[in-house]
Amino acid sequence: MYEEDTIAAIATPAGEGGVAIVRISGPEAEKIATKIFARPDDRNGRLKSHRLYHGKIHDSATQRILDEVLLTIMRKPRSYTGEDEVEIHGHGGAFLTQRILGLVLAQGARQAERGEFTKRAFLNGRLDLAQAEGVLDLIRAQTDKSADLALHQAGGELSKWVGELREELLEILVQIAAAIDFPEEEIELLQRSALIKKIDRLREQMDNIIGTYDWGRLFRDGIKVCICGRPNVGKSSLLNAILGCDRVIVTPVPGTTRDVIEESLDLNGIPVVLWDTAGIHETVDVIESIGVERSREYLNKADAVILVIDGSAALESEDRALLSEIALKERKLLVVNKNDLPQHSEVAEELKRARADAEQVSVSAATGDGIQTLKVKLREMVLDNQSEPSIVITNLRHKAALARSNQALGQALMSLSEKQAAELIAMDLNEAVAALEEVVGTIHTEDILERIFSEFCIGK
Ligand code: GDP
Repeated sequence: MYEEDTIAAIATPAGEGGVAIVRISGPEAEKIATKIFARPDDRNGRLKSHRLYHGKIHDSATQRILDEVLLTIMRKPRSYTGEDEVEIHGHGGAFLTQRILGLVLAQGARQAERGEFTKRAFLNGRLDLAQAEGVLDLIRAQTDKSADLALHQAGGELSKWVGELREELLEILVQIAAAIDFPEEEIELLQRSALIKKIDRLREQMDNIIGTYDWGRLFRDGIKVCICGRPNVGKSSLLNAILGCDRVIVTPVPGTTRDVIEESLDLNGIPVVLWDTAGIHETVDVIESIGVERSREYLNKADAVILVIDGSAALESEDRALLSEIALKERKLLVVNKNDLPQHSEVAEELKRARADAEQVSVSAATGDGIQTLKVKLREMVLDNQSEPSIVITNLRHKAALARSNQALGQALMSLSEKQAAELIAMDLNEAVAALEEVVGTIHTEDILERIFSEFCIGK
């Protein structure tokens, strides 16, 4: 339910910062702000909308000045929430900001819940649900590409496409409604085949967009890559070489990396989490065996695996065990390291026999040779060579709704070709329209709103 009270929250992250912002939205926002804000020269008069004013926040109960701030009023409807909004930009101390918020609450505002500002923006028609979800993605974006995708969605690109599709379906529904209203004018053969063609085309469009989900999800959520290999093959050195810095301490003592080290990498727009694991091997050392157990766990939950082999030494039983362990992984790369050293004559031959289907890259973590190729191959492996689609969906909720819409269209097609009653066809088409409307939130339940907006932070 939409409550028309006035809400307030700290919009900036907790902790110290250059500036902290208290945000107020609702019918009482301006009244509350003017009660606690005074301009330096005591100038009165109504504050203008969308201007920054310099002044002080004071507590009238104690006659104390709390902070020197900049304040702006954004009157409705030209504000984020579509309501009257006030922002108070104070000095960025956590304690100080809490005090300002406390004053605002004491004047009658209610502490905002998670995402409540954006929820109000949605309920006031400032943005639709797909756009609101884009805003959330934008806040969470980890690479340029994921930020771009989120920005397009927040800007309404997906919503526009959904809107156009919906319009086309409504047009078809109008034609079918005529057949319902005038039953004697049954859907003519010609008209029937034209409708089939049209719906077919819409389904194809929908299929294409649904098909972009894996691509979009990859850029939004990224992938988890596990680097594994027996001790001392150069896993930590490889991680450092990929990241281009000395994050992991490299030592010549086997089994030094006992826990799993996690690092993030922007692989040309794909957010990648790299796990450097302890290595999977037989050990009697208790602590080391915990590390080995953890490695196996990470290997299992990774989306892709990089198996590192030392090309300068003969394969050992642990290498062979790992080769068969990763056989079931769909995405794997075989990295033959230490190519700056003379390569062992049997390694290449044995690898060929063991794992013909995994891509191989020869590198030297020490000199950096082959690291760029490794990154390219890693990217190709996770992208499946797909080219960039024009509209991308990144959200499972959208995918599910579009799939339902598509299925209803399939049903409508069947009814049409089976010459079913126009009412039946209209029912299917209405279902397809309703599923589309779920994407943008024209149709929504309180549950769905709760689920989406509770993912936001307080103050957004
Ligand atoms: P990990 O146990 O698999 O993580 O292996 P490390 O990264 O700790 O490396 C083990 C040893 O191999 C260290 O002495 C590294 O300096 C050495 N090493 C790693 N990569 C290379 C390489 O490409 N060439 C050479 N010559 N030595 C390497």
